[in-house]
Amino acid sequence: MSASETRPETKHGIGVSPGTAHGPVVQVAPPVRPPADEPAPVDAEAALADVKAAFETVAQSLETRAATADDTAQQILKATALIARDKGLAKAAGKLIHAGRGPAHAIDGAVEEYAAQFEALGGLFAERVTDLRDVGSRAVAAVLGVPPPGVPRITVPSVVVAEDLAPAETATLDRALVVGLITEAGGRTSHTAILAAQMGIPAVVQLPGATQIPAGVHVALDGDAGEVTINPDPALVEAQWVRGERRKEALATHSGPGLTRDGKQVALLANIGGVADAVGAAALDLEGVGLFRTEFVFLSASKAPTVAEQTEIYRQVFAPFGSRRVVVRTLDAGADKPLAFADLGPEENPALGRRGLRLTAERPELLDAQLEALAIAARETGADVRVMAPMVATAEEAAWFTRRVRENGLPTAGVMIEVPGAALRARDVLAEVDFGSLGTNDLAQYTMAADRMQGALSELLDPWQPAVLDVIAAACAGADLAGRPIGVCGESAGDPLLALVLVGLGASSLSMAPSKVPVVRFALSVHSLAECQHLAVAAREARTAQEALQYVRERANGELTELL
Ligand code: PEP
Ligand code: MG
Repeated sequence: MSASETRPETKHGIGVSPGTAHGPVVQVAPPVRPPADEPAPVDAEAALADVKAAFETVAQSLETRAATADDTAQQILKATALIARDKGLAKAAGKLIHAGRGPAHAIDGAVEEYAAQFEALGGLFAERVTDLRDVGSRAVAAVLGVPPPGVPRITVPSVVVAEDLAPAETATLDRALVVGLITEAGGRTSHTAILAAQMGIPAVVQLPGATQIPAGVHVALDGDAGEVTINPDPALVEAQWVRGERRKEALATHSGPGLTRDGKQVALLANIGGVADAVGAAALDLEGVGLFRTEFVFLSASKAPTVAEQTEIYRQVFAPFGSRRVVVRTLDAGADKPLAFADLGPEENPALGRRGLRLTAERPELLDAQLEALAIAARETGADVRVMAPMVATAEEAAWFTRRVRENGLPTAGVMIEVPGAALRARDVLAEVDFGSLGTNDLAQYTMAADRMQGALSELLDPWQPAVLDVIAAACAGADLAGRPIGVCGESAGDPLLALVLVGLGASSLSMAPSKVPVVRFALSVHSLAECQHLAVAAREARTAQEALQYVRERANGELTELL
């Protein structure tokens, strides 16, 4: 390598999981393509048997990985294994074999047929295309007898780099050896971002040219600043390490409930996706759960879980929290979170379709079974369980949900505020419930009309967008008029500077990936409520998202900004 190739080079992306890391790059192997010169099969039946065996190998390897993964990962891996066992896929490949294609091309052709249909259907189905192509590429590798695509075997602490990671890949990364994560695509609220933060692995997404960094080259990344340095000089690594240590020390000086400097309480809560997350989060210094995404538990279920099955899971989630609060979101099925047993069929625009509460309104038996199970588990564990509905748009929907929650003997009902319509009329919507929780991931998506799964639209999806801040402000003002508490459980709650703005706007709780709690606690502790309110005013005076962030950074307490 020439001297110029080893010069340090710093690039900027979006930091989505806090912390710093450095190490050699491991590039995720790209998908395996069928060879151009693959011959037509001599024996079509034997070729079809090879194809079926390849799909089965993929299904089994995903299930083997699932067996040792945590529960969010397990669900994702099992859901992907189900795709590999899809009979329609093998049948489509069979047709292509009989038309003279070799096994690898037949697999690829069948997957692409499905992918084109899914993409045309959009939303819910389009979200499955990454997983579908991942299965296809693994099956092609299996039928060709070459190593599978994806994360190679890692033996030393490394930084994993990819175009984007399938949820299955992110969820199964070995936390002990994967010290950092960088993707060229992805977005703030993509699966990769949510899971990396949940797993506590520092991560940067949307890094230009990431996949061009040669394997083995040393990089240093900062998951707070969204900065990656290729070939960092030892001084930079040292400085980053020192900063990391100083940060850890500073953060360790604060513990206990979230409080502003002048004593305003802001509950610091965890976002979780299942039993293992619950056990992990309950062991930490936080005040409970602000968002239990129950649909994550059932991603791979083909049949609706029974009341007894659900009760057992909820019991295991609630028990570790003792008397701390656990806010449970009822099934948010549809769009980016499809569930096989709660599928109302193809829709043109699933993100705008019958998802979340709208879906359970059409299938009330799903909601009732869930509420019944939650009520039993709450009674048996004595936990402070509060239930909230996703994707609520109107006061009538909120009233309908509250009635059902109360009929099932659960005392506290709330709604997610993630639809701009509900945010603008929060006064009426929240009057029907006990509390509100701002889902800023979807609120940004719908306010800016930008699909949250499109990494390319990251700038529009930025929760610092002044329009998004205005909608949040309207929701907080409505909550105040209705006399109901409102919190935040979207990814924005874990951004320490934005957390100050949210508190300034009126949020009384913040729920986030557990790894983000310490820095948010620190941020609150060095600002008074009045200062948070001033920061909120400054952010809303900005014309652009960058300006909003810049104004707040300039005005925030230096004790915090020097750690960021
Ligand atoms: C949100 O939309 O902000 C949210 C917290 O829910 P999810 O990311 O699960 O849609
Ligand atoms: Mg949402």
